[in-house]
Amino acid sequence: MTSSELPVNFAMTIDGAAVPAPQTFDVVNPATGQVIAQAPDCAPDQLDAAMHSAQQAYQLWRHEKSARRDLLLKAADEVLAAVDEIAPILTAEQGKPLADAQMEVRSVALWFRYYANLEVPVEVIQDDAKARIEVRRRSLGVVAAITPWNFPLSLAAWKIAPALRAGNTMVLKPSPYTPLATLKMVERLARVLPPGVLNAVSGRDPLGASMTQHPVPRKISFTGSVTTGKRVAEAAAGDLKRVTLELGGNDPAIVLDDADPARIADGLFWSAFRNNGQVCSAIKRVYVPEALYADVVDALAEKARSARVGDGAEPGTQLGPVNNEPQLTRVAGLVEEAVARGAEAVTGGRAPDRPGYFYEPTILAGASDGMRVVDEEQFGPVLPVVPYHDVEEAIARANGTHFGLSGSVWSADGDRAAEVADRLECGTVWINTHLALRPDQPFGGAKWSGLGVENGPWGLYGFTELKVVHRAGVTS
Ligand code: NAD
Repeated sequence: MTSSELPVNFAMTIDGAAVPAPQTFDVVNPATGQVIAQAPDCAPDQLDAAMHSAQQAYQLWRHEKSARRDLLLKAADEVLAAVDEIAPILTAEQGKPLADAQMEVRSVALWFRYYANLEVPVEVIQDDAKARIEVRRRSLGVVAAITPWNFPLSLAAWKIAPALRAGNTMVLKPSPYTPLATLKMVERLARVLPPGVLNAVSGRDPLGASMTQHPVPRKISFTGSVTTGKRVAEAAAGDLKRVTLELGGNDPAIVLDDADPARIADGLFWSAFRNNGQVCSAIKRVYVPEALYADVVDALAEKARSARVGDGAEPGTQLGPVNNEPQLTRVAGLVEEAVARGAEAVTGGRAPDRPGYFYEPTILAGASDGMRVVDEEQFGPVLPVVPYHDVEEAIARANGTHFGLSGSVWSADGDRAAEVADRLECGTVWINTHLALRPDQPFGGAKWSGLGVENGPWGLYGFTELKVVHRAGVTS
């Protein structure tokens, strides 16, 4: 399917029905810069309708534990049956290679199945003649779920699967840059889920703010930037809505002096450039000992030169465009500043002369802390490589930030790497790998990178509250 063959109409899903909005907004293909579709711009009364539908559906859904399991399994099948319909839409609006888009759609089914099969046992902390005390987990109610533009479908699945499994219902809002695949996926899911259990609305940023201020949701599950995450927390505070915040990262990789540059280059490169660097937990800065510095820079530059950049819809593309124009401007600005301050773009360092929001994969040598591209989250195809003298200094620099999403340590000696890994202040630390995620592995950020976790039973707990049932025994 090419951009011109995309469906013309995209609808929201409210109370099980496909619903257009009175107004629409443009969605652009970042590989061409051209408008490819119109997305519904949810009106205030439509948001109310979605919230109330979710609230209504909650009254039954919360009690239907085994039906929830069966329906999540059916939902997984429905998504798998729609891979060829949804993946090209995702590529067209997000920019990622089609094979990656297909993988992302399939990952939704993986998450649905994992949570369908996850049983949360009631814990019994006392059971004798005096008392039986059970610790149960009860659902919260309606969840407002808000997602970013880098992995619209998988990040939605990280919310939908545990929230619904636990008995909540949901109103989901994708990013205005990438609303289409989510709308299409939820439209398909409406074939199997009862009306109101999963609603999808689309609109610009103020719609997200309206969701966080709406009286119906009891929980906001948000993935996006630190700045917006703080606004979400503020909006939630007045009503004490529960929040989970999955926010930005500035993930360091520390290469130890016994690592073999040739062996680690591929892992390092793809952990930084996957999805064109637009991954919250991608490697965003690499600390390399002086003795290995030139070799690591060369090996990374070689990878960058050979990566195939292009329209994600073209077979063989490995790196697509940056998703949107403001992000491209930001990435280019960060590189410009670093170069002006003495860094060298060994490869890339410029936008190619072609339509769309492309930026050449860039390895920045001579980067140092204090440059914005090192201190901030670049979220694009640029990797600063920072030399260090001793490992204590590298650890201090890696931790010297408000971010704390993830990090990694690369070494020929796993135990030595593990000691360094232990000292990194982040939610996930990998050794000789990075970006390895699974449905059963919790994921969340330390410091400003987040609040709460997603995935595994812990992710489901975030959509519940404890409820203690303390029953006095006959003798008390
Ligand atoms: P963003 O914060 O601009 O937008 C995220 C979502 O929030 C969008 O749907 C947007 O419309 C909505 N929104 C905007 N203003 C809002 C408000 N005031 N209230 C409620 N919602 C509002 O982020 P982005 O640019 O779409 O995504 C990139 C960021 O997301 C990066 O910082 C990245 O690291 C982060 N991210 C984090 C994770 C994680 O799991 N930790 C995963 C992916 C992306």
